Amino acid sequence: MKTNSFIAGRLRESNIKPSPQRIKILEYLANYPCHPTVDRIYSALLPDMPTLSKSTVYNTLKILRDARLVREVTIEENEVHYEYAIKAHGHFRCLDCGEIYDFQADAEEINTDELRGFYITEKDIYFKGVCGQCLKRDNQTEK
Ligand SMILES: [Zn+2]
Ligand SMILES: [Zn+2]
Repeated sequence: MKTNSFIAGRLRESNIKPSPQRIKILEYLANYPCHPTVDRIYSALLPDMPTLSKSTVYNTLKILRDARLVREVTIEENEVHYEYAIKAHGHFRCLDCGEIYDFQADAEEINTDELRGFYITEKDIYFKGVCGQCLKRDNQTEK
């Protein structure tokens, strides 16, 4: 578990004032690597912070993203997921249960010779399919 003071330190390093909301939101993302959406972060923190608003969550995520403490995962067209920025990895989204899984991959290692002279703003590795859990469950129910 990443502690409160560790998180406050990360914010200060990035010149972000460690307000209680910012600490809570970054702490949540650091400790629960479940790629939550704004809605999920909001409802997870609301019991602890009854004055929290969804726009505060949204604005805080924007600040954290710009400071590269948080990354956006845009594997789903209509919903942005967020994660604590750790080392580069790929994402797999299960089309059945919607769960997003991390796997070891680095977009920096992909050969981009053909894009020479291009300005790249995003580098992501996104896979889709059906996860092992769902395959197992489907196999069991079919029998
Ligand atoms: Zn699944
Ligand atoms: Zn991830």
